[in-house]
Amino acid sequence: MNFFRSIKFRVWTRFVIIVLAMLAITYICLIAMFPMFYGWMKSYEINEAFVEIRSNWESDNFGDILDKQASAKKMYIEIIYPNNSTIIVNRLGGSHSLAMISKKDFIKSVDKSENGLIYKTFRDEQEDNFIQMLGSYIGNDREYPDAYVFIFNYLQPIGTTVQIFQNQFYIVGMLILIMTVFMSTVFSNKISEPIIRINNSAKKLPQGQFDAKIGKRDYMEIKQLAGTLSEASKEIAKSDDLRRELMSNISHDLRTPLTMIKAYAEMIRDISGDNPEKREKHLKVIIDETDRLSSLVTDILDLSKLQAGVAELNVETFNLSENVTGVVSRFEVIKYNDGITVDLQAEEDIRISADISKLDQVIYNLINNAVTYVGEDNTVFVRLFRKDEGIVRFEVEDHGEGISPENLPYIWDRYYKVSERSATHKRAKMGSGIGLSIVKSVLEQHGFKYGAESSLGKGSKFWFEAPEYSETQPPEEPKKHKLELKIQKKQ
Ligand code: ADP
Repeated sequence: MNFFRSIKFRVWTRFVIIVLAMLAITYICLIAMFPMFYGWMKSYEINEAFVEIRSNWESDNFGDILDKQASAKKMYIEIIYPNNSTIIVNRLGGSHSLAMISKKDFIKSVDKSENGLIYKTFRDEQEDNFIQMLGSYIGNDREYPDAYVFIFNYLQPIGTTVQIFQNQFYIVGMLILIMTVFMSTVFSNKISEPIIRINNSAKKLPQGQFDAKIGKRDYMEIKQLAGTLSEASKEIAKSDDLRRELMSNISHDLRTPLTMIKAYAEMIRDISGDNPEKREKHLKVIIDETDRLSSLVTDILDLSKLQAGVAELNVETFNLSENVTGVVSRFEVIKYNDGITVDLQAEEDIRISADISKLDQVIYNLINNAVTYVGEDNTVFVRLFRKDEGIVRFEVEDHGEGISPENLPYIWDRYYKVSERSATHKRAKMGSGIGLSIVKSVLEQHGFKYGAESSLGKGSKFWFEAPEYSETQPPEEPKKHKLELKIQKKQ
């Protein structure tokens, strides 16, 4: 088992990675980029003040505006007129040295600059600070400006502030990380716990046992998964039971004829060997029992081949009416032995494309079941007719005991036998429960529609429909059809 691929580990790492990423983003934005943000902010302030001063230059309360800007942003502002008279507003605090600096060079720089705007940053030795300066002209004519303006602003040394932030960040980051590790462990356990629980219970699925404990507060998906698995376990248990039943049926079915064969063979050896009449009779029993054995074995082999998808369809076009008549004639002997009539009504010359031998088996199995469960009327009705344009329908109907609505959907399952079958049906032959699954497999392989209608005490009708072959229209590609069931309630 690879722990690193477990949900628990994955959830845990994802959680930790997300928090680490968020911490990194916080560090970059807050600490690493702090000096840059600070610079931007200061430049923005100085520019904003300049825009205000310039746009209010001609207003009556220009002095107030100058004072307001300088006070609000703690600045030193100097306005120099062409006649060298000067207005100074100093709200920088502390330094007076700025007034002493000659502005002549700055004025020259402004005049020479491309857009009449200069920025400078220099060190104020006295205050041990950096100073940012914006210089420009005021007025509409650049050649003869109304005045020059110089705005000075301190750039505080922010190294210590950044250092403090950084230290604080390390402590907070460590705390967040410890909490994250703790919480992601709790969460990943919480998320993976029900999955692990269900998985442990599902290990018993192959034995058909599944009893996962689902709490009220479990996730919806987990509840659904538990539901699905529980259904699957029931199906497994059912099919396991059916298989076991089949094994016992088959063993029983195999043992009975074998016992008979052995007994009759011994009888021929010991008693009837010299009596041709008796010997004939005994040999007939042996041959009949051998036939029974071989048909049982063939059935089982056929079904497993069909269901494994090994059996290829050998499709050809043939006269279904003739085939149905042929299969029905095989039941003549039953009429003779048990007085059961198979009543056939078949339209003539119905041609379809299918695998003849497999379809014969379908027809045979359906009639055989109807004969087995025939009702008091001792008659089985077989019909073959054109139902709609291009569709032919084959039906087998009996008026026997019928199948209950609960059992009807399952009769097509392999090994399924209605267990509480009454012992009164005419031919008390125990079936293997695979006849109808062969029917289902063959018809599905052909893509034919099929179904059963039955009501308890009244009888059953089994049918399938196939496209009729026509010279002009090639048969459609086989496609899967859903099983159609009509359940009639017992009145
Ligand atoms: P089996 O070999 O037992 O007949 P099938 O697969 O042919 O197996 O049929 C499955 C079950 O369906 C039967 O055991 C029987 O209970 C029920 N069944 C099939 N055909 C009929 C019918 N015509 N009337 C009543 N029950 C039927």
